[in-house]
Amino acid sequence: MKHKNISIFIPHAGCPYQCAFCNQKIITAQEKLPRAEDVRKICSQALSEMPDISDTEIAFFGGSFTAIPEAYMLELLETAQDFIGKDKFSGIRISTRPDCISRDILEILKKYHVTAIELGAQSMSNSVLKANRRGHTAEQVVKSAKLIRHYGFALGLQVMFGLYKSSWTDELETGWQIRDLKPDTVRIYPVVILKDTKLAEYYQSGAYPLFPLEEAVAFIGQQMIQYHEAGIRVIKCGLHASEFVEKDMLAGYYHPAFRELCENHIYFSKINSLMIEAITNKQKLPEIFAVRPDCISKAVGQKKTNVNYFQNQYQIRIKIIGDENLDLYEVKSAEESVCI
Ligand code: SF4
Repeated sequence: MKHKNISIFIPHAGCPYQCAFCNQKIITAQEKLPRAEDVRKICSQALSEMPDISDTEIAFFGGSFTAIPEAYMLELLETAQDFIGKDKFSGIRISTRPDCISRDILEILKKYHVTAIELGAQSMSNSVLKANRRGHTAEQVVKSAKLIRHYGFALGLQVMFGLYKSSWTDELETGWQIRDLKPDTVRIYPVVILKDTKLAEYYQSGAYPLFPLEEAVAFIGQQMIQYHEAGIRVIKCGLHASEFVEKDMLAGYYHPAFRELCENHIYFSKINSLMIEAITNKQKLPEIFAVRPDCISKAVGQKKTNVNYFQNQYQIRIKIIGDENLDLYEVKSAEESVCI
């Protein structure tokens, strides 16, 4: 069953810092802070209009929920209580900064039926965190993640790919350390350079070169496989396609279907490996590949890019078929190999 969120955005409220990449006003496309009456209206409307509210949570996203003034935080949480329980929503999710978690705050969140906490880890390299003005350290990510787990909340971690001064080594180590914290979920946000941010200044001055988009897609695809193999769900990959982001971005790793690009690449590299293996073993090139049935289009690729690549490269029209016994991202050659 697919998890759903009733998202209530809290733009920039409670942030003790101004991170180099952030322009929350653009990302959430609103400047007004929601009050109790807004929460009531959004939740009532969702309750009456949604055909299926199972596995649905109220989600306070967009700012640093636990850093907003306590009276305001309690106003939002109190209001949400009327919409949680039998025949209503299953709980509350929040997102916040790693340095805005304490035992006292977690006690409050427990009392108000918060079930999941997402931390904006962004990078596990202290020099990258500093260069991007995050104002917290990787050690604080580790400490808060462990405390959240200790209190029995579901843990989500958000990471950014391609931050200012981040090297391939930093990216690899971040992935490795995030997996080591065993979150339930991960969101991967490849950097999009928005107007009116520090990153925009660095980029325009030439001090911030970007990795090629294809390399970013290939790298993030590999990370997605590794998260999947570690039992961690990647619930988001790429900023959601929005006219606001497209209008206000200067550069970065943006595509309206970024996740799909990464997943297309995962299947491309797996099929390509099977081709290379056949060539190495002097076997007939495989033409039929099996994947999980709901992944056939990912393996075919957007606009059939994968199928067309193998047609051009090997003069073979590959065929993708479904096999319910296969796992996500698993690919098998679906025919007998014949020696040549
Ligand atoms: S990224 Fe989060 S913590 Fe940083 S300025 Fe934006 S909302 Fe605040």
